[in-house]
Formats: sequence, structure tokens, C-alpha cells
Amino acid sequence: MSGEKIPFDIHEAVERLRKAVVPLPKAALFDLYDQGYTSLFEQLLACLISIRTFDEVTVPTALRLFKLGRTPEAISALTPEQIDEAIRACTYHEAKSFQILTIAQTIQQKYQGELPCDFEVLTSFRGVGPKCANLALGIACGQPRIGVDIHVHRITNRWGYVQKKTPENTLLALETQLPKMYWVEINRLLVPFGKHICTGNLPKCSACVLLDMCQQVDVKKHR
Ligand code: SF4
Repeated sequence: MSGEKIPFDIHEAVERLRKAVVPLPKAALFDLYDQGYTSLFEQLLACLISIRTFDEVTVPTALRLFKLGRTPEAISALTPEQIDEAIRACTYHEAKSFQILTIAQTIQQKYQGELPCDFEVLTSFRGVGPKCANLALGIACGQPRIGVDIHVHRITNRWGYVQKKTPENTLLALETQLPKMYWVEINRLLVPFGKHICTGNLPKCSACVLLDMCQQVDVKKHR
């Protein structure tokens, strides 16, 4: 299925992807950032809401929560029921409402109301894994970090750029070979690209801007 290919060039790929995603809906966290929800606390809560939840649901759900409060101080003054009511549309909303309240209270008590840009601190919170920590730190704090979700994992493997079976190992591989300047941007590009072009089933290879350099690893059928 791979046919005549030119060698994969990450700089050229990013260049083409930047143009390809312009008409597509933005990834949820980047969308919220562009709407002014730029703090680490807001980005972290939005990422928690996004777990197992579509972007189309994540953005309005996060906005409902932020109407009640945008700071650890404001959120920690809410009841779990108020938070749950605001985020009811997302998956696992009940568990997430307790996690959100605990995070806000912990920041108030342990960090004087200011969430530090620190990976260890973020991943010490229940429900926050490396993906959310990296995404929030990359977007809100400007740290070079790669948010590897299912889209980044699937697509970089299809390219043949990495050959890893799990998102965790894809992250390690990308950290050694992806130029640092793309560490935050790769998620911003590959989430919309993965949802609309390089989809899990039947990717739209025939209309893809990367067809001439993508190895289409494990792509058995495509559009
Ligand atoms: S859509 Fe096809 S050609 Fe494009 S990146 Fe995905 S697998 Fe490669």
C-alpha cells in the first residue's frame, strides 16, 4: 500500500499539516486557550474533563465550569454537587467532580492558591496522568512537552516515524527524535488531523497532504 514514497521529513510534514488543519475544528485545550482560558489551572481542569470525552462536549462543559469559577479559590468554594452539575455532560463526571474539587483545595492549602508549573505536582493529583500534565504544562507554561494522546500515537506510527505499540512508548520515542520546537504543536496539529483525515478507521489517504511520504504502516483499508 505504500507505493513510491519520498523519505519522511518532519519539517515538511509540519509545514503541510499547519495548512491542512486551518479549516478544521481546533483541539479542545488549544481552543479554550485561544478563548482566553490560558492558566495552568484552567488547562488542567479542561484536560481532566476531556478524558474519554469528545472535544465537542469538552469545550462547552469546561466553559460551564469556568462560569462558576476560574481559580482554585473559586472552585474550592463550590460543593461537589455544583461541580458535578456543571460538568454533567462529560464522561465519569461524578468522579471528576471530586477530583476537580480536591485539586482546587490542595492548591489552596499546599501551594498558596497558585498551581506551580511542575510535572511532579500535577501528576500527584488523582486522575492526572502524563498526557494531561504534559499538555497543560506545554500550553499554559510554555514548557517543551509532548502530549501523546491516541491521535498522536496512531499517526506518528502510521507515518513510520516511530514504531511503538503504546502511547507511553511513543512518547519516549518522540522525546528522542521529534525536534523540540514541535513538542507542543504536534498535539495541536494531530488531534484535528486525526479526527478528520487520518482517522482510526478508513483514513482519508487519497486526500492526505502527507501521502507521498507516509509509510501507511498497518493501514489495511483507506478512503
Ligand atoms: S491519512 Fe493515510 S497517508 Fe495520511 S497520514 Fe494517515 S495513514 Fe498516512
